[in-house]
Amino acid sequence: PFSTLPVLIAQHAIDRAEHPALIEDDQQMTYRQLDAEANRVAAALQRDGLKAGDAIAICGSNSINYAVLFVGALRAGLTVAPLAPSSSPESLLGMLADSASKLFFVDASVNKAIAGVRDRLSMPLLTLDNSGSERHFNDWLAEDGAQPAAVEITPEMTFNVIYSSGTTGEPKGIVQSHGMRWSHIQRGLTMGYGPDCRTLMSTPLYSNTTLVSFLPTIGLGGTVVIMAKFDAERYLKLAQENRITHTMLVPVQYQRIMARPDFDSYDLSSYMMKFSTSAPFHAELKADVIKRWPGGLVEFYGMTEGGGSCALAAHTYPDKLHTVGLPMEGHDMRVISEDGEELPRGEIGEVVGHSPAMMAGYLNKPEKTAEAEWFDSTGKRFIRTGDVGRFDEEGFLTLMDRRKDMIISGGFNVYPSDLEAELRKHPDLQDVTVVGVASTSWGETPVAYVVPFAGRSVDADQLQAWFNERVGKIQRLNRVIITDELPRSAIGKVLKRELRDQFQAEFG
Ligand code: ATP
Ligand code: MG
Repeated sequence: PFSTLPVLIAQHAIDRAEHPALIEDDQQMTYRQLDAEANRVAAALQRDGLKAGDAIAICGSNSINYAVLFVGALRAGLTVAPLAPSSSPESLLGMLADSASKLFFVDASVNKAIAGVRDRLSMPLLTLDNSGSERHFNDWLAEDGAQPAAVEITPEMTFNVIYSSGTTGEPKGIVQSHGMRWSHIQRGLTMGYGPDCRTLMSTPLYSNTTLVSFLPTIGLGGTVVIMAKFDAERYLKLAQENRITHTMLVPVQYQRIMARPDFDSYDLSSYMMKFSTSAPFHAELKADVIKRWPGGLVEFYGMTEGGGSCALAAHTYPDKLHTVGLPMEGHDMRVISEDGEELPRGEIGEVVGHSPAMMAGYLNKPEKTAEAEWFDSTGKRFIRTGDVGRFDEEGFLTLMDRRKDMIISGGFNVYPSDLEAELRKHPDLQDVTVVGVASTSWGETPVAYVVPFAGRSVDADQLQAWFNERVGKIQRLNRVIITDELPRSAIGKVLKRELRDQFQAEFG
């Protein structure tokens, strides 16, 4: 069977009309209202001459209007390009052009970036909140009760284009189809999503991380509680108030929540499932979450490209917390060598994956798509993850690092993740990361950026000496740099590329 998000919402509007679909602060939208608002969006888009297959772009923080616009555009058969608010003006222009977006919706959170592009936009600009002088979403919507012309949606049609977060390079548009998204909604059935679930959403809607939790919640008739901006204390208050059952958080959010001295005073007994993805989630932190936060914990490893995913039900495999788990049902994952040969289980190499939710390709970039593909001897198609890892005897995947972050020092591979795990044993460090920098004698050499816990003083030289005693010669740190915060993307990934550039500029 195949269905689509707009069709499911229309069904919920009949079956559970007054059930809350979206909650944000003191605003609440029922399924009846969501369905009607989505119709007004779709009718407005059709009135403006947009047709199935056309694209619109949205750039802003999470809000009810954002969600309504997304769903309404899908109902009209449009493609949504949700853009990261942290994008530079140049990259915004690039993504708007690449996605051929015909309308561009923004809010106050992106005023600065928009100021840099306003004069160069080739499409109308509208605002989702009351900011700026742009035309407001509410004035743009078709009248109350409007009915758009029905559009038939097929599994091949594009649902959204998400620009890869650009952690390692230039953003590429990843095309995700309705068929792919249907598999994400259906998968929710196995994770307890359903009419009675209440999902607390505090990661940004433009990312796949968020959508894989938002879509099953709405698709299966549950309630999404929207946070526009993450804050650990507010998260906990909302969780308690709304009797939250599901959430998707990235590891740095878990870290901030667990670090709160008042964590144990909140009633979180309503939680059924917590999810994590996007970045390394270290074993000690997972163990802490399992111990002190009710409900299950599942970590996903995957990529927006959909090239295979692993899942670790951390609460059921306490001795596998250093891994990202097993390939999910229907996902085939392998490890290959530098020259593209499949490696036997147990060996370290690049992870490749095949899944029902694999992207068709990158938008307008056939050569990038070809670079990302790998075929096994039977011709089965896989997507290269760019991540280095190893499957153990029981099939659990241990991830080392991204290929681009691996350090080759004196001809040996040094895995920053090994060094980070060792550094984390130091009691005064709250956050750590290791990057490779150019070295005349070694080619590359590791340096660490560390963030001490508030109120602790750490001496860089002493820390370096402490560390270098504990590791082999090639793993020794060349320098330790103490800092207040690691640079992270909006979705919480450490931007190692930025640290390498920073190091080069300062010490290179
Ligand atoms: P770009 O491809 O533009 O550099 P990106 O790879 O960060 O951006 P995403 O598709 O959002 O964009 O992220 C997928 C990557 O995130 C994976 O390839 C992996 O490196 C990392 N990742 C995802 N889940 C996990 C996890 N559970 N543990 C460690 N790393 C993870
Ligand atoms: Mg990637």
